[in-house]
Amino acid sequence: MKTAIIGAGLLGRLAALRLIQLGHKVTLLEAHSFDHPHNAAAISAALIAPLSESVHTCPEVVKLGLTSQSLWPDILTSLSDIDPQHQSVSYETRGTVVLSFTGEQDCLLAHRDALYRAVPEHRDSIRMLYNDEVTELEPELMRFETALHIHNEGNLCNAEFLAASSRALRRHASIIDHWAMKGDGSELSKEYNWVIDCRGPGAVQNPTHANDSDQRLFSVRGEAIRIRTDAVPLTRPIRIIQKRCTIFIAPKKNNIFVIGATDLDKSDSHAVTVRSSLDLLAAVYALHPGFADAEIVEAIAGQRATYEHRKPEILVNENIISINGLSRQGWMTAPALVEKLTPILA
Ligand SMILES: Cc1cc2nc3c(=O)[nH]c(=O)nc-3n(C[C@H](O)[C@H](O)[C@H](O)COP(=O)(O)OP(=O)(O)OC[C@H]3O[C@@H](n4cnc5c(N)ncnc54)[C@H](O)[C@@H]3O)c2cc1C
Repeated sequence: MKTAIIGAGLLGRLAALRLIQLGHKVTLLEAHSFDHPHNAAAISAALIAPLSESVHTCPEVVKLGLTSQSLWPDILTSLSDIDPQHQSVSYETRGTVVLSFTGEQDCLLAHRDALYRAVPEHRDSIRMLYNDEVTELEPELMRFETALHIHNEGNLCNAEFLAASSRALRRHASIIDHWAMKGDGSELSKEYNWVIDCRGPGAVQNPTHANDSDQRLFSVRGEAIRIRTDAVPLTRPIRIIQKRCTIFIAPKKNNIFVIGATDLDKSDSHAVTVRSSLDLLAAVYALHPGFADAEIVEAIAGQRATYEHRKPEILVNENIISINGLSRQGWMTAPALVEKLTPILA
């Protein structure tokens, strides 16, 4: 079976890896650099946090997230089956810590109640911690008297995954990067048994004829700041619940931390603004004064494709399949979406 995948972002790569396992002859067509991507997958924090996200999204997306959470370890193991020289990809599942600053404790309690309402069947995975329990879990958070611990949520190193998947796919797929798409993909559909459109925001202006959803696809900007310090040995992603917005900080390898906000989304295509930099950096400095001397490594904005109903869609039109609308939850939904694809393509 000959399959063309348009777009080598997160979804395109995961679909390619799965289809290679199923015996497809895969060609990946990428508009930009394949080995040095500058897409949402590269910019993102790569947190796999379905329960944390349950207050921002619908139950279907949470369900996809829980399924993906269980699929990620096998995906990472399968990379070493495909590529014997594979270097491991860091994937921690120590869960998420959620807290609020002094004076905003009502925000934390309201957030806990919202989580209990959103995912009542997972109440046991959401634990309120008091005083020493907070310090036992994360010694660097000794100034906080209360926090929530959401168990098992994942924190993946996206840079390592993109590098490892590049190596594996270069061995087992045909890669054409800096590729210019002509028309609506119908030419490709004559040449290949299947065409899978994984262009993310690239499909907003120029849809294939599989993009026939009655939902409008649009782009939403998200921002991430990467800082580096060895002065704050946090081991888990932290969500800071504030009245104005929720900010997360995720520890990565080599003393890097990724900082972003779950609700500072905007539809323009500007670079990172002064206002959001101040929001993000002030919050992490208030979390731990050790962040004061951290180096700012990168401040970057990226586009995420979103349908109006805020759920991903798999749309099939003859032999063209479009998967899009992963919004800001791609790392927590893409593996489950690819699994939904396999019965169609097996
Ligand atoms: C700041 C930020 C933080 C995020 N944090 C998280 C997080 O913590 N957890 C989480 O689950 N998700 C997170 N996300 C969201 C996640 O990164 C996206 O949902 C995911 O990357 C979407 O995957 P995709 O493959 O659909 O799109 P992308 O990863 O954007 O890939 C699309 C690819 O298609 C290519 N393309 C576009 N047009 C064409 C064309 N015409 N021809 C060929 N190729 C084309 C692009 O160059 C790109 O490589 C975050 C995103 C951002 C921006």
